[in-house]
Amino acid sequence: MIDRIRDLFKTFLLIELVKGMAITGRYLFARKITVQYPEEKTPISPRFRGLHALRRYPNGEERCIACKLCEAVCPALAITIESAQREDGTRRTTRYDIDLTKCIFCGMCEESCPVDSIVETRILEYHGERRGDLYYTKEMLLAIGDKYEAQIAADRASDAAYR
Ligand code: SF4
Ligand code: SF4
Repeated sequence: MIDRIRDLFKTFLLIELVKGMAITGRYLFARKITVQYPEEKTPISPRFRGLHALRRYPNGEERCIACKLCEAVCPALAITIESAQREDGTRRTTRYDIDLTKCIFCGMCEESCPVDSIVETRILEYHGERRGDLYYTKEMLLAIGDKYEAQIAADRASDAAYR
């Protein structure tokens, strides 16, 4: 009975409405947290797992030694590698493809790589209009590595310090 009387008073005095308006008023003057993407961007962790890249050593030599660990560990079977021995006796990939329509960005490829060759960059702004656009070949992955090496190296250094 007391509860019903209390509810009646609340209804007549518009208590719930006043409470709601108070919250609206509080957020009206609070600092806005909406980011106007893409003009504004939020910080990205150095450990962010975005678009893949293949790296080279400073002398231009490919890091990848075609051990195929990344291909073996990939749970999505997104990586395809073929390899051959070069004239100098070293082994290198003749094919290194990643099908990003299969990739789940788990990071296991980069974790498994013994020479820090395959990495996931902080690049997230890429797209494909057809299925084939997201099939990245060795040349494409090396080109990403070449273009963003400074950023990749900095991220890897800060990631190592973090561990
Ligand atoms: S991030 Fe994961 S799913 Fe994607 S290629 Fe690497 S191992 Fe495969
Ligand atoms: S990217 Fe790394 S793990 Fe994959 S085949 Fe090359 S060296 Fe091995």
